[in-house]
Amino acid sequence: MHALTRYFSDSYAQARERFLAAAEPLAAHIQSYPIEAKGSQGEALATDVALIGDAGAQRVLIMTSATHGVEGFCGSGCQLSLLDDAPMLERARQAGVALLLVHAVNPYGFSWVSRTDEGNVDLNRNAQPFDGRPLPANPGYGDIHGLLLPQEWPPTEHNRQAIARHIEQHGLAATTQAVSRGQYTHPDGLFYGGDRSAPSLQNLRAILQTHASRHARIGWIDVHTGLGPRGHGEKIYAGRRDDSEVARARQWWGSDVAVPYQGSSASVDITGHLAGLVYEACPKSEPTLMALEFGTLPWEEVVLALRGRNWLRAHPEAGDALTREILQSTLDAFYCGQADWQGMVLGQSRVAVLQALCGLQASR
Ligand SMILES: [Zn+2]
Repeated sequence: MHALTRYFSDSYAQARERFLAAAEPLAAHIQSYPIEAKGSQGEALATDVALIGDAGAQRVLIMTSATHGVEGFCGSGCQLSLLDDAPMLERARQAGVALLLVHAVNPYGFSWVSRTDEGNVDLNRNAQPFDGRPLPANPGYGDIHGLLLPQEWPPTEHNRQAIARHIEQHGLAATTQAVSRGQYTHPDGLFYGGDRSAPSLQNLRAILQTHASRHARIGWIDVHTGLGPRGHGEKIYAGRRDDSEVARARQWWGSDVAVPYQGSSASVDITGHLAGLVYEACPKSEPTLMALEFGTLPWEEVVLALRGRNWLRAHPEAGDALTREILQSTLDAFYCGQADWQGMVLGQSRVAVLQALCGLQASR
């Protein structure tokens, strides 16, 4: 058995180089979608796309990584593992399914160890029309924003107590909902959805239009981390509110597919969901969409890491030691480097791919 470490990279730059090298001999088509911002090592940033198989196939399976930047340490590993999985690639070919691997949807966040992009935008809250119509309101966020991003880091005892009181008053569920569902009022805040289409989201829209829209049936696995029990891959329905689409996702991936809008997921029902792009970019295709969400640390620790990372963005004058500590906490919240976790991730990712291939093959 190969060491799993060769699939999991230490940096965006390394992951990108490995992805392109692994895809090159296999792909019918490779294309890069750059953004203007530069990486943490001064490197160019891009979302890279590899199409494997027949571009004219009726069916395509998309796998995306790093929608949430730093979560790409996991998702890139899943993609590199798939590229090295000759029996699975052959299975896709026999099933008449093309594979569209989209590496680093948010390359800035991947490189800079951040969940959000160069404008602090959470791409998975950014798929809004931004056409002057009101954006989804989230007044509960404004009530806690000041507590989430205090003047000092790490937070003082006073700040911790104030947050505990807030949770006591409003309830944990309502607080979690307010913090994470998405907000459009505090650009320096958590889970900020932006005020326009982010560059990386525009790239993804173009990728879907160019490479996915010609296929009649689309399966999509968007790999995430940071929610749920360590190493557990929660299969989260990612499509619109449509019972027949939910039923199809459960037919493919199992009746344990969780549905945020029905309250059965570790994820709250979010606004501006990125997978929603498929409906406008591929209007003639039938999509079946799933986020595969791997657990890392307890939710409180993940939120603390996110707060620290946003605090650092607002305080570039922070010293080297504190900067390193915050970045390490962010990485730890979204990626577990241990072999047992990596094995759990790759095993469950492989199952999800196989299930999607079977689902796509069976669809007429
Ligand atoms: Zn995520």
